[in-house]
Amino acid sequence: MNDLVIANGTVVLPEGPRLADVVIRGETIAGIVDPGTGRGAQIVDATGRIVLPGGVDPHVHLMVGFMGQRSVYDFESGGIAALRGGTTTIVDFALQRRGGSMLAGFRHRRKQADPVVTLDYGLHQIVTDVNADTLGELAALRAEGVASLKVYMIYEEDGLKVEDGALYALMQQAAKDDLMLVLHAENAGIIERLRAEAVAAGHTHPRWHALTRPPITEVEAISRAIQFSGDTGCGIHILHLVAGDGVALIEAARRKGLPVTAETCTHYLALTDEALERPNAHEFVASPPLRSADNQLVLWDALRRGVLNAVTSDEVSYSAAAKAMGAASFATIANGCTGIEARLPVLYTLGVAEGRISLERFTELFSTWPAQIFGFGDRKGRIAPSYDADLVVIDPQAKRTIGTATDYGAIGYNPYEGMELTGWATETIYRGQVVVKDGTFLGRAGQGRFLHRVAPQRPGLS
Ligand SMILES: [Zn+2]
Repeated sequence: MNDLVIANGTVVLPEGPRLADVVIRGETIAGIVDPGTGRGAQIVDATGRIVLPGGVDPHVHLMVGFMGQRSVYDFESGGIAALRGGTTTIVDFALQRRGGSMLAGFRHRRKQADPVVTLDYGLHQIVTDVNADTLGELAALRAEGVASLKVYMIYEEDGLKVEDGALYALMQQAAKDDLMLVLHAENAGIIERLRAEAVAAGHTHPRWHALTRPPITEVEAISRAIQFSGDTGCGIHILHLVAGDGVALIEAARRKGLPVTAETCTHYLALTDEALERPNAHEFVASPPLRSADNQLVLWDALRRGVLNAVTSDEVSYSAAAKAMGAASFATIANGCTGIEARLPVLYTLGVAEGRISLERFTELFSTWPAQIFGFGDRKGRIAPSYDADLVVIDPQAKRTIGTATDYGAIGYNPYEGMELTGWATETIYRGQVVVKDGTFLGRAGQGRFLHRVAPQRPGLS
């Protein structure tokens, strides 16, 4: 007997969308059958709806702190916000403190997440201190199911930056131990100098956040990371790529067959540096910064052509109050914005409804490709027999205005405030259970599981 049938929807299958029933047994997809023919204990009527594989957001920061403040979302509430936005799997981060062990940082993060997490999650291990001891831990981390290390090429003042010699050594060892790197790629030297000059000149407005991080700072760091990848053989993924000239570097590297991928984020597709002139400009400070409208066209073109392989949220839920604490100067504002829940309707509306990308490409960017790149494409990111029954049913007709009122958490501002969007989730199915219906969470804290990841599958470039 089947447990659940998602009936009569337009189902986005690996070979393309078609009207079908998705039949689920236990936690797994049992089959795809003709519309109206699926039989099961529970039926979700998806007539007029689109059925997608559950979203995969491989770049989120839940439960983080800044200036004594906690982010609004932890692994329970942030997971619920994700599920409401049709995302059923995330990859968050574990932190190695300088002088400390990576494995200790990893185990600490598992302890924070496991008792309460509400969706499946993996962890990128942030590396801040590269020495013989920590290089010796990589194989053990890999055995724990970690498939990627994160390096910040900037943020020395926060104890995060890894300098070039250490980065190179880390990539040599990571390649041997079957780990890839995800990189925050910005040139520290240029940015630190421009910031110091701006601060000394009394330029405090949030627009200076962008003016002190010109495109060259991203482009040079991406170029350096690609060179290191080519030399060491270590796979890399560039996080939150914004600068259009970075796209050409990614494309050239991929055409050469290097193990290189990259993503951009929802906010870089929906917002431009115009937002840094608004009265609430400080709420739009993120790194890399929002760039021009012309630059944004390059990102859409790269998504259309499959040069960029994911659109992530880079979720960080600092509240409006926390963002305002630092607002006196661009140099003291907490970086980042929330987007874990908005990623689905924003990308669906701007991408599919407004005709910038196809429904198939949307599905690849939202779910399939990040699942493959980060080592769980064998279980997630596709609607196919034997895959995990993680699905989202969306309404391609209903329109709603996004804002603080539509968010799950009390963050106090929404970067997309006032946009009229479609493609909202009506039901989210996680491991065969309807865990969100019309915005209401029906699951339980602790239902999520840690993902042991396998080697990446990198999509080809046509
Ligand atoms: Zn991030």
